[in-house]
Amino acid sequence: MKRVVYVDNNATTRVADEVVEEMVPYFKELYGNPSSMHTFGGQLYKRMERARGKVADIIGATPPEIIFTSCGTESDNAAIRGVLESYPKKRHIVTTRVEHPAVFNLCKYLARKGYELTEISVDNQGLLDLDELRAAIRDDTAIVSIMHANNETGVIFPVEEAGQIIKEKGAVFHCDAVQAVGKLPLDMSRSTIDLLSLSGHKLHAPKGVGALYIRRGVKFQPLIVGGHHEHSKRAGTENVPYIMGLGKACELANEYMKEEQGRVKCLRDKLEENILANISNSRLNGHKTLRLPNTTNISFDRTEAESLLIALDLEGVAVSTGSACSSGTLEPSHVLKAMGLPAHRTQNSIRFSLGAANTEEEIDRVVAILPGLVDKLRSLTRVPVRA
Ligand code: PLP
Repeated sequence: MKRVVYVDNNATTRVADEVVEEMVPYFKELYGNPSSMHTFGGQLYKRMERARGKVADIIGATPPEIIFTSCGTESDNAAIRGVLESYPKKRHIVTTRVEHPAVFNLCKYLARKGYELTEISVDNQGLLDLDELRAAIRDDTAIVSIMHANNETGVIFPVEEAGQIIKEKGAVFHCDAVQAVGKLPLDMSRSTIDLLSLSGHKLHAPKGVGALYIRRGVKFQPLIVGGHHEHSKRAGTENVPYIMGLGKACELANEYMKEEQGRVKCLRDKLEENILANISNSRLNGHKTLRLPNTTNISFDRTEAESLLIALDLEGVAVSTGSACSSGTLEPSHVLKAMGLPAHRTQNSIRFSLGAANTEEEIDRVVAILPGLVDKLRSLTRVPVRA
C-alpha cells in the first residue's frame, strides 16, 4: 500500500508507539477491576491515579478535578448537562456559532427541550465578539460554553478574556479544549475556566477515551448515574487500558509540546505559504496568527472541495473538507458560514491539519502535486474566477 501523507490530524491522530506499549499490559496480565478490594484489582486503582495525575498536569489542574470519560463528546455533554441540572432555575445557555457539533447540536437540542439559547457571532476572520458575549449573559444564564480552538480553522479564542466577562456576570464557564490540549499550553490553576473537555484521540491516545476537568467547588450533576466511580461524577467501570494510554499521551505531549509544535508550525507555514503563493485565487480562512500551529484552512476558487479531496486521496494525501455530509446533502461548513464567507469559499475549502509524524518531504510532495490537481479541476468547470 502507498504510504499516505496524513494531514488530517484534527480528525484523529496516530496512537503513539509509547502509548500502545503503556496500554498492552492492562489487556493482558493487569486486567483487574480498579474498584476490587483485592490487591490484584486494587493495584490498578493506584496506577489509574498516576494516569489521572498526568492528565491533570497537562492542563495545570489537580488530579481530583479530572474525571475520565469515553470521548470529547461525552465530556461536552457531561459538562453542559451537569451544570444545567445543578441550576434548575437558570434556563439560559450561551455558546458560539462555531462550536463543534458536540456542543453546537447539544445546545440546539436543549433549546428544543425548552432552554433559551444565545449564540455569539464571529467576524470574517473567525474571531469572537466579546462585546456581544458581555451583552448576552443574563442573570438566568447557567452556563457559557466557548471552545478554545476551532477544529475547522484552528482559530484560537481569547478564552481568558471571555472568562473574565463570564465570571463578572456570575455564570459557569465550560471550555471545549479538545483541539487545544497538547497543542497549546494550558494552566487551570490560573484560569477562569470552570469545566474543560479533552479527548484522547486528538493527542495520540486511542479513540474512546477522554476527560473532563471540573474545578473544585463547581456544582455538577453526573450525566451517567450508577456506581460510585470517578468520585460519583461518572459511573461505569473505568476503561483502564485506555486511561493508562491517555495518561501516557498527556505525559508525552507535556514533555515535547513546545519543540514539537514549533516544528509542526514551520511545516504548516511552509505548506500554507506555498499554496497561497502558487495557486491563484486560493485564500486562507481564519485569522493569520491567532491560530493553532498545525491547522490551515484554504479555499480554492472554482474548485469543489469534495473533488479536490478525492483527487488528493487518489494521490495518497488525506485531508478534510470544510463541509459536513449530512443526510445525503453536502452542507457548507457552519463555521465558515458563521464567518460570513461567500458560498464559493464555504464550499471550496480544504482543511490541512498537520501532526507529529509529518515530514518536510511530505509537505514538499503536497506542494508539488496540488497546483496541478487544482488546475485540472478548474479546467473542468466553466464558472468564472471571482475577485
Ligand atoms: N470538540 C472539538 C473541538 C472537536 O474537534 C471534537 C472532535 O473532532 C470533539 C469535540 C469531539 O471529540 P470526540 O471525537 O472525542 O467525541
